[in-house]
Amino acid sequence: MSDLLLRELSVAAFDCPVITSGHEDYDRYRKVWNGVADRRPAAIVRARGLEDVRKAVVAAARARTLLAVRGGGHSLPGLSTCDDGLVLDLAQLNDVVVDQEAQTVEVGGGALLRDLDQATIPLGYVVPAGVISHTGVAGLTLGGGMGWASRKYGLTIDSLLGAELVTADGNRIWTSRTSDPELFWGIRGGGGNFGVVTRFKFRMHPFGSIVAGQWNYEFGRTAQALRTLRDLARERPRDFTVTLTATASGLGVAAVWLGDERLADAMLSPLGELAGAGTGTIGPMPYLKLQSRNDEHFASSRRYYAKGGFWRDIGDEAIAHIVDVVARAPTPDCEIFAVQLGGAVCDISDAATAYTGRNAGYYWLSEPVWDDPADDEACLAWGRAAARSLSDPSMEGNYVNELGDAGADVAREAYGTEKYQRLARLKARLDPDNLFRLNQNIKPAGTAAV
Ligand SMILES: Cc1cc2nc3c(=O)[nH]c(=O)nc-3n(C[C@H](O)[C@H](O)[C@H](O)COP(=O)(O)OP(=O)(O)OC[C@H]3O[C@@H](n4cnc5c(N)ncnc54)[C@H](O)[C@@H]3O)c2cc1C
Repeated sequence: MSDLLLRELSVAAFDCPVITSGHEDYDRYRKVWNGVADRRPAAIVRARGLEDVRKAVVAAARARTLLAVRGGGHSLPGLSTCDDGLVLDLAQLNDVVVDQEAQTVEVGGGALLRDLDQATIPLGYVVPAGVISHTGVAGLTLGGGMGWASRKYGLTIDSLLGAELVTADGNRIWTSRTSDPELFWGIRGGGGNFGVVTRFKFRMHPFGSIVAGQWNYEFGRTAQALRTLRDLARERPRDFTVTLTATASGLGVAAVWLGDERLADAMLSPLGELAGAGTGTIGPMPYLKLQSRNDEHFASSRRYYAKGGFWRDIGDEAIAHIVDVVARAPTPDCEIFAVQLGGAVCDISDAATAYTGRNAGYYWLSEPVWDDPADDEACLAWGRAAARSLSDPSMEGNYVNELGDAGADVAREAYGTEKYQRLARLKARLDPDNLFRLNQNIKPAGTAAV
């Protein structure tokens, strides 16, 4: 199989680097963010432009090999790499072009969140995205995209105006509300199932100041603090967002206020005072700093797993389970994380995009982090068991981007039957042989494709 692939790659005559196992940079470019996903592809195409992407897609289809499309390389289950097949690495397609007059920005399919933020924030604009600056724009957007500005401006997909894709037959297409609207519906939450996105076009939002607060609560206060914070957060307008990180050593809380600076103290300080924080700070925070404050904690090559779900609200039962599971965590960096949703995320109906979970109040994650492969079994078991105990039975659906497991049932459960079937029909039209299957995979409707 890999001989056939290597032949196809050589026929394609790429202008960009094609790296195989003998190459001095092979180990550098085969690595992805999650150290658990240690795989050895037959070749890595480091695309520089649309033509390289088309050639790589055609070569993989002709060789009938696995094709892993890589944006930022942050897939939790390691879906942007593979053993033996072809990795299409888009890291060099990271250009960001701002049109200030139109308040839009075009972003290459391999750009990172920091590439996007560094181009827009200094001009006073933001595209709402995630909270760690080394995450890829592409994978994050195609699944939905949630972060500090979601309650104010919606998910990342809610600012998406259009995208250029290379489909399984090697053709280039543009999709938007008016150009193949069904595909535009599907790429807003349906992941990389329908083609390689080479360029996104987003609406930018004017952006003012940020005041951020962070507090630490000792372990014995975790339950009480969570109850108080939940009650406070319920009352806050959409300029306010809180995140919670519970570990065996206590509770870390971070909150931002994106509204009128004069109201910031009233909005933020009760989170420390009323909830009995041990330590804490409140102050203006530049957006770029906010976006990178946890970058090192989530450094590349550590070992990770995640499994999450939606909460309507943070229930008392979930709080009791959080305290219980973090006390039994196998390593100090195993955590339960939650980000507040609601606000603008709920302004759009659940049916309007493939993303599922518009009505949630929070997205939570059981997130073990470790370094020693000897801890794999204990950490994976902890992550899965913690997730089971934290699930809210009243919430259906899931966020495909934050699931550390991949498999036939994962996408079906995440989207629910009706959306899954609609996505499967779209998949059958655009990728009947399931070439793009290293993702939370939608099987093409009515075909026997793998
Ligand atoms: C440290 C960390 C922090 C995170 N924080 C957030 C957060 O704050 N908010 C949030 O919403 N999510 C967050 N996530 C989840 C994140 O959205 C997903 O992991 C996402 O898939 C990462 O995208 P990527 O391009 O980096 O990943 P990759 O591993 O490159 O790709 C992920 C998937 O998308 C496909 N894909 C990638 N690029 C393309 C493309 N150009 N065209 C078609 N398919 C493509 C891949 O084939 C793969 O299936 C975080 C993840 C990590 C690891």
